[in-house]
Amino acid sequence: MSILFLAIPDEAGKLSENTLQSLATARRVAGELNTPLCVGLIGGGFQKAADSISSAATTFMAVEKADGCFATDTAACTALIKQSGAEFVFAPAELRFKKALPAAAFRAGGVADTQIGAVKGASGALEVERWYYRQRIKGAFSRTRRPWCLLLEAGIDAPYSGSAVAVDVKLVTPEGYESKSKICGVESPSGDARTIRPEAKLLFVAGAGWTKKQANPANDAKKAGELILDFLNKSKASLGSSKSLVDQGTEGDAVLPFMSHLNQVGQTGATPRHQKGLSTCCHGEEPHVVGWRFIAERRAVNLNENCGWAHGKADVLYVADAFEVMEELNKLV
Ligand SMILES: Cc1cc2nc3c(=O)[nH]c(=O)nc-3n(C[C@H](O)[C@H](O)[C@H](O)COP(=O)(O)OP(=O)(O)OC[C@H]3O[C@@H](n4cnc5c(N)ncnc54)[C@H](O)[C@@H]3O)c2cc1C
Repeated sequence: MSILFLAIPDEAGKLSENTLQSLATARRVAGELNTPLCVGLIGGGFQKAADSISSAATTFMAVEKADGCFATDTAACTALIKQSGAEFVFAPAELRFKKALPAAAFRAGGVADTQIGAVKGASGALEVERWYYRQRIKGAFSRTRRPWCLLLEAGIDAPYSGSAVAVDVKLVTPEGYESKSKICGVESPSGDARTIRPEAKLLFVAGAGWTKKQANPANDAKKAGELILDFLNKSKASLGSSKSLVDQGTEGDAVLPFMSHLNQVGQTGATPRHQKGLSTCCHGEEPHVVGWRFIAERRAVNLNENCGWAHGKADVLYVADAFEVMEELNKLV
């Protein structure tokens, strides 16, 4: 029995926060199962990454060439899985692994499970948990088929940190490595233009109230947008939305231009994981609040003392005008 942990460092060899959290999970489970841990790295930054986590595992392997395409990532994962002979394969639930790992599991004759929220290796067997039916039902299960590949959600364990020394990394060459796609370059928005920040401590949610007619006519959608962006830039919080607010654009109503359906939290939206959440101008209806499943500390600002948040869905409800609250808050942060 052995565990392979897969990671994709950046070109400088840096590993993301999610990766370090998942590595900590792999190490903990390897200890619980009393089994060796092997780390498989993909991409040019493999050596620096391996050195930075040298005390995390007993063996290190890498596939050097990786351009981020599905075909090459899948070939790299498959080669590392086959070479390691591992029974269990752990990887952080990041975009490239979400695409490549299920395909690699298939090619290696194994099986993959996604959205894993808890893993334990007690009493010699591996058991995992994940949520079903839009985070309403939690299931715990195990599998007999091997290799069993798991995509781990963020936040299961605290990020790994350990000593860094130079380590030997065994290079692996994948088969069938040619991709028809060629990546010509990467264009990404500037840090401030990106409003979805999975690593932020705070989720700030805006609801449809921000664009509704207000008692003070100066409090319109334009001002709402300025207040929200100012807060996001200062606090570096992640931006969520209710469905009503992001749907408004299609009805021709005033919208917040930086908001899209990707920001939507809830039953038909995302279920982000953050330590704290602050909801503003959002009613707190069940289909929305179900997306707050993993937000530990919840606060809301609403004019209506009878809104959904008041019915046990928030720890603190400020019955107040969000325009006034955010103006004051922006002076403080
Ligand atoms: C099958 C199904 C799936 C759904 N999935 C989702 C989902 O994934 N996500 C989701 O969000 N919704 C979802 N919904 C819709 C959900 O039920 C609600 O309709 C929606 O969340 C309401 O959005 P809201 O709270 O922003 O808007 P509203 O209900 O219009 O509430 C606006 C709130 O703003 C407050 N307000 C106004 N002005 C101010 C001010 N100045 N200061 C403070 N507060 C103010 C008002 O008091 C009000 O409570 C779903 C519905 C269905 C039927």
